[in-house]
Amino acid sequence: MSTDNDATARRPALVSPVSVTAGAVLHSADFIRPRLWDSGRTRLVLHAGVQINGTPHLGTNVMQTAAFLLAQEARERFGVPVLIRFGALDNAPYEVRACPDSGSLYERSFRNALGGPTVEDLAARYYGGLFDALSAATGVPYALETYTSQQSGRAFREEFLASLRQMDRLRWYLAPSTGTVPVSFPCPRCGWSQKYGEHTEVLTADAHEARFAAVCLDHGKYLVDVTADSDAFVGLTTLHRNLVKERVACRDDALPVIVKGADWAPGCRLLDEALQCCPDPVSPARLFTPVVLSDSGAKLSKTLIREGTADLSAETEPWMLDASRWAGTDEEYGRMLLDLVTRMLSEPRHFERGYTTREIARLIGRTPATRSAGPAR
Ligand SMILES: [Zn+2]
Repeated sequence: MSTDNDATARRPALVSPVSVTAGAVLHSADFIRPRLWDSGRTRLVLHAGVQINGTPHLGTNVMQTAAFLLAQEARERFGVPVLIRFGALDNAPYEVRACPDSGSLYERSFRNALGGPTVEDLAARYYGGLFDALSAATGVPYALETYTSQQSGRAFREEFLASLRQMDRLRWYLAPSTGTVPVSFPCPRCGWSQKYGEHTEVLTADAHEARFAAVCLDHGKYLVDVTADSDAFVGLTTLHRNLVKERVACRDDALPVIVKGADWAPGCRLLDEALQCCPDPVSPARLFTPVVLSDSGAKLSKTLIREGTADLSAETEPWMLDASRWAGTDEEYGRMLLDLVTRMLSEPRHFERGYTTREIARLIGRTPATRSAGPAR
């Protein structure tokens, strides 16, 4: 009769070099401990992202599974309630076109092209089943909110308006090469906005209100007023958006913990510097999760997969690139991910590194001879 111990003994060994934190960090959840104790907070909220511009690949799902397991571990180690808040990026571009005269690019986001209900259906279809399975297995509750909803909140608007007042300093952290931090607002008539906001101007701005002028390819110039309550959709660059979101998260009486793939580390350095140059500086705790890599060492990317330029080994199964091609149930997919990421979390040295799809296939006992693509769900 086989036992769990036999199964563990048969697993391929995980081999990782000594990490920088060896001896100092015994479990990756401990990265949260100093901030939790220093801040005196008694709850944790982990924040992670959800892409809705296509079915997720394995890298995205590894980060999200790690968020559930780290939250579970933190709850047990520190004895505090935990929650995961997933932000769905419905501001991702859905369609792009160029002005025939100037070449200036205009785009329409998923939200503006498809509407709120369709966006929420996409988020539920790509992530709902898996998140429910991970939540049931770990006992960690989660909430899913779109960017559209986040940016409409009073706290977000206040922090956005505050960032405009600090822009003379912030601009060099948020765009070190150019100092240009564009803001974009969809045309109220058609929902298209200038991708790089090169013709969007701030006309007036104070603590309570800002007025912008922007240009639509089809409808010409329009004015947008942003207040705590106006329904303008605020489009920000990646670093600016994260700065505002993190300052909003820091207003909570729970300690915010930002969970991102390790490829975010250079960007987070700029973010942390930007956060420190705001009046009343705050900073969230951060956890970085292993990145899933193609054979070249580049992280899995929807764009490279779509273009066919990702360097993928024969061991790369279709479901690693597109989770909807997993042949089993959400629960089975969740169990595979939990088992895989639990092993990554078994020692910090295994968590502070990346994994190629070839290595993941080896770790979960798949080889090209045993693989099966399975039907699309
Ligand atoms: Zn328009």
